Amino acid sequence: MSFRHPRAKMSLMKSDPFGDKKKPLAGLGSVVSGVFHRALVRPTVWKTIDFPSNDAAISCSTRLFKLALAPENGVVPDFKPGQFVYLSFPGRGILASPRPFTIASSPTEKRFIEILAKDTGDWSGNAKTLGIKTPALIWGPYGTFSYLQAPGSGRFVFLAGGIGGAPFLSMLRYMTDADRDARVLFIWGARTRDDMAEKEAILRAGERMSGFRFVPVLSHDPRWAGEHGRVDREKIERLVPAFFGFASDEFEWNSASYRLCGPRDFARDLGEILRDNGVKSAAIHSQSFNR
Ligand SMILES: Cc1cc2nc3c(=O)[nH]c(=O)nc-3n(C[C@H](O)[C@H](O)[C@H](O)COP(=O)(O)OP(=O)(O)OC[C@H]3O[C@@H](n4cnc5c(N)ncnc54)[C@H](O)[C@@H]3O)c2cc1C
Repeated sequence: MSFRHPRAKMSLMKSDPFGDKKKPLAGLGSVVSGVFHRALVRPTVWKTIDFPSNDAAISCSTRLFKLALAPENGVVPDFKPGQFVYLSFPGRGILASPRPFTIASSPTEKRFIEILAKDTGDWSGNAKTLGIKTPALIWGPYGTFSYLQAPGSGRFVFLAGGIGGAPFLSMLRYMTDADRDARVLFIWGARTRDDMAEKEAILRAGERMSGFRFVPVLSHDPRWAGEHGRVDREKIERLVPAFFGFASDEFEWNSASYRLCGPRDFARDLGEILRDNGVKSAAIHSQSFNR
């Protein structure tokens, strides 16, 4: 089963309308191909629900919020961890216009999908106030950002900026169920602990995956005793080799694959640092949340 119209399956699986590799016109291409796909593909009908699990108890900061959505037919279709969908709420003003959102839950969760969103404008500000049982339309899944697209050697470095942590939440949740032997260093830059939603889910992943390390990097949290400031060259060149058990000058940077998600500048700047260390472009997969 799929979220999409079957005739559109092949083209959608291959396309990544938001792939950062298509710079500098990636944003324009994203919008054009997104609009094109939505015109061709029939959406499926969903509704917002209360979180059925204990996760409901986990609160988000004032700017972050979560939505749980269940399909009308009761079956969450197949998707890869890290993919995104277009979401709209018909008859709800601006919310009737579809927007892209990453699925933060795991494909192994078959009852609902979770969207983790930041209140950054009119659309998200309105979505934040939706009650349960609000009808929704969903197009997708889209994107090739999932680690399953290129699992390689099973050694991963995930680098997230802000709400860009969402696809990694899906991947880590999936890994704890289906891929516990993966070695993953997850470096997540945010302003404060409150901007790092679902950290409890990440810590649970750490307990279940022996080769996992989570490094939050906080720029505006004076009480934080861990890594401070931004995810920058110094931190990457120190943390990545150390995680894999090497000194900086002995580490073979191409022995791992790298996934970057955040604002466009984040993916561009960190990609440059990785390439400076000899990482081949094929080992760097980026996704930007900017249109
Ligand atoms: C592949 C992909 C996955 C995404 N996943 C998530 C996610 O998991 N969680 C999340 O919170 N956000 C995600 N986003 C971003 C999200 O789609 C936007 O924030 C969304 O459109 C909500 O818009 P808004 O409420 O901020 O602003 P709107 O009311 O839609 O627009 C307000 C203004 O901001 C501009 N704008 C809105 N969104 C963007 C954008 N993405 N880039 C540049 N300008 C923009 C508009 O052009 C407009 O001028 C994702 C984006 C992409 C491309």
